[in-house]
Amino acid sequence: MISLEEARSIITDNILSLPPVEIPLSESFGHALAEDLHSDMDYPTADRSMMDGYVIRAESIPGDFDVIGEIPAAGVSNQSLTSGQAMRIFTGAMLPENGGRVVMQEDCSRDGAKIHIGQFNESLFIRRKASEAKVGDLILPAGTRIAATEMAILAQLGCVNPKVIPTPRVCHIATGSELVSPENIPAPGQIRDSNSSLLLGLFRPFGGKLKSSRVADDPVAIKDAISEEADLILISGGASVGDHDHGADVLRNAGFTIHFDTVNLRPGKPLTFATRGRQVAFVIPGNPISHFVCFHIAIRLAIELMRGLRPAWDFLDLKISDHEIIVQNPRETFWPASVSARNGELVATPHRWSTSGNTFSLSETNALIRVNGSDDLRTLLLDLPRPIRSI
Ligand code: AMP
Ligand code: MG
Repeated sequence: MISLEEARSIITDNILSLPPVEIPLSESFGHALAEDLHSDMDYPTADRSMMDGYVIRAESIPGDFDVIGEIPAAGVSNQSLTSGQAMRIFTGAMLPENGGRVVMQEDCSRDGAKIHIGQFNESLFIRRKASEAKVGDLILPAGTRIAATEMAILAQLGCVNPKVIPTPRVCHIATGSELVSPENIPAPGQIRDSNSSLLLGLFRPFGGKLKSSRVADDPVAIKDAISEEADLILISGGASVGDHDHGADVLRNAGFTIHFDTVNLRPGKPLTFATRGRQVAFVIPGNPISHFVCFHIAIRLAIELMRGLRPAWDFLDLKISDHEIIVQNPRETFWPASVSARNGELVATPHRWSTSGNTFSLSETNALIRVNGSDDLRTLLLDLPRPIRSI
């Protein structure tokens, strides 16, 4: 049985990022840039005013000035300043010829076509041409994850169709003859399918398409549900070696190479990872906590590699409260937990769970505590849209 560390390096060695595509800027959120982005011009394109006020020559000193014109934000002046002259100027406007200092309007008293400058702020209040970037400068390297701030940068650079790595198309197959849809009342022996909803929510931040189907423990039905177009195939349930666990065999018979089918992990031991060309597949043990853990420690890695990104895998040395809840196990264990701030310090509180079938114990989870036989308990903060609360 391989360790989680080995499993993660096998995943890393066998996954390539998806081929880049051009998409509209408005849809680029969350994607990795597929190419370096350079500045298309100098920024700012000219010396510009940082204030609403009056522009005078650089050597001008306090005194009285004739106001000879006005430059609004979009304006360009063809007048040139001589000493004793000033022009009204607004934030962002281009400086006129010989303009060397902007005096904020609060430091100027206006009287008709004249201003008087007494005490004034010494700053020049000028954003110099090319002081933020020169034409050709590298602004965003390939691999940058596009968030709101990068969308603003793309807009400024006029990059309306950035080349990005797309999000994988996911085919999710919930297997199990006992499964019924959530709107049904389960008959004796049946249970409601919660994993399809769990995966829908876990995949949501990636913004891509996840198609779910539900099939019985029947190898033909499972094989037929595998979409040829999907980049990532997630088979829920049937991961183990029982008579009704068909996941790995179905993949093998469909031409997938199985890279591993068991990991020294709790929960989530019978986790299968396979590839067929560029297609990636996992068979995930059906219990909801196994699903949640396997997603964060293995499947998320695969998704991010396909998206040209590397997910965070940094464990924090946080204070653990309610320590006695944690039970050691020979297998490396990932314990669902909630991290909150108490008196300015982050504290991880493990959730109570005795079996990996206890969906209710997952509520409010935003972290996993790694338990690996030693007293060195470390916490993995999950990249979920769930903020850390102060309590
Ligand atoms: P399996 O991996 O198929 O052996 O399933 C392990 C446990 O998880 C069984 O108790 C299943 O009933 C349960 N399970 C499997 N699939 C789901 C699902 N989609 N939703 C909720 N529980 C499931
Ligand atoms: Mg099953």
